[in-house]
Amino acid sequence: MNSDDFNSLLIGRFQPFHKGHLEVIKAIAGESDYITIGIGSAQYSHTFENPFTAGERHLMISRALKGEGIERYFLVPIIDINRYAVWVAHVASLVPPFKAVYSNNPLTKRLFQEAGYEVRASPLFNVEVYSGTEIRKRMLAGQEWRDLVPKAVAEVIDEIGGEVRIRDLMKGLL
Ligand code: NAD
Repeated sequence: MNSDDFNSLLIGRFQPFHKGHLEVIKAIAGESDYITIGIGSAQYSHTFENPFTAGERHLMISRALKGEGIERYFLVPIIDINRYAVWVAHVASLVPPFKAVYSNNPLTKRLFQEAGYEVRASPLFNVEVYSGTEIRKRMLAGQEWRDLVPKAVAEVIDEIGGEVRIRDLMKGLL
């Protein structure tokens, strides 16, 4: 990446990475030279809200983007710091320089706006079903979830036994 390249930042938890996230990245790719994808709440895993490790999410995203031929991106795990006033500086210290932030998360948007960054609206894609909460709920209930994630992501989740992990978490076995 050169200093005049337009690098955009997208931060999410990606629990798991789904087709809505993929559509957002494809839309951003049309407006940017590079995309930095921050894997937020990177310290969490093995909870119902955050079942997958940062490494597992990294694998989901990189394999899904490979399948789409998207190559100009950086993937950076970002742990939370519980001091909102300095969170943007924390993020900026971890990722390559960026010129705009895409988010629909109200807190993320507010913090970057207050720090003087350009925040762009992120397009929404079928949010009722392309949603991490919905996918985790379906996994728990044994309902169909594979059509909500890129094929490469379903493969990673199967490889790591993700569905069983979520059920065991909710049964209190973990
Ligand atoms: P997420 O994975 O739910 O969503 C990521 C992005 O994708 C969001 O902008 C969301 O609106 C968008 N998205 C989701 N589904 C979509 C769909 N169907 N169509 C289009 N867009 C869709 O992640 P999140 O919960 O928004 O992640 C924010 C991260 O930032 C978290 O990890 C949070 O902890 C972190 N954060 C941390 C601090 C701090 O530590 N101080 C402060 C603010 C934010």
